[in-house]
Amino acid sequence: MKKEQMILFSRSMRTRATWCDALLALLCICAAVLCLLPQWIAPRGASITVAYAGARANEVFSLSENREIFLEHNGYHLTLIIENGTAFVRESDCPDRVCQSRGEIARNGDTIVCAPAGISVTVHSEEKGGDADAIAG
Ligand SMILES: [Zn+2]
Repeated sequence: MKKEQMILFSRSMRTRATWCDALLALLCICAAVLCLLPQWIAPRGASITVAYAGARANEVFSLSENREIFLEHNGYHLTLIIENGTAFVRESDCPDRVCQSRGEIARNGDTIVCAPAGISVTVHSEEKGGDADAIAG
C-alpha cells in the first residue's frame, strides 16, 4: 500500500515537473520576445566604430549619446561630433580634409575615412533591413 502511494506521488511529481518545464519554456520565450520587442519597435543601439590603421585597437561609441570625440593618429587631429544620431568630423588638420567634407553619417555601413590620419569611422546599426536599404540606396 505504501509502495503504491510512493509510485502515485512520484508520478504526480513527474507531471508537475513537466508542467513546470513547459511554463519555464514559455517564460523564456516571453522574456526573449520582450527583450527583442524594443528593437523591433524603435531600432536603437546604433554605434560607430573608430578604426585606426595599424595596431591600435578599435574604439566604439554610441550614436545615441551626443558628444565630442578628439581623435589623434599619425600626427593628425580630428574632432568627431556625435549629434542626434549622426556623426561627422567638425575639424581636422589633415591636408585633404576629405573626412571633413564627407559630412554626416548615420546609416548602417556609412563610413568617414581620413586617409592621412589612417582613421575610419563606420556606423553600425542593428536596424533590420539596414543592409537592404544600403543596397537600394
Ligand atoms: Zn582627413
